[in-house]
Amino acid sequence: MPTLLDDFPVLTPVTDEDLAIAVQAVRTHAPESWPQGELCRSERVPYPCRLARWGRATLEAAGLSAAQVEQGGWA
Ligand SMILES: [Zn+2]
Repeated sequence: MPTLLDDFPVLTPVTDEDLAIAVQAVRTHAPESWPQGELCRSERVPYPCRLARWGRATLEAAGLSAAQVEQGGWA
């Protein structure tokens, strides 16, 4: 599945290491509500930022939904 050119590449198959980084990225780069809209909590750029997109795409490539990750269980 091709990803946007501006984004980090999602390499498949997803390694355990990449998966751990992706989980961390999705958690760190969460949306935060601001008067001007949703911004990345970590970078204060419009959400979803590059890392949030990469994290979600990587989780998806590994067969995990962001909801599964957000609901916990993942270190
Ligand atoms: Zn971010």
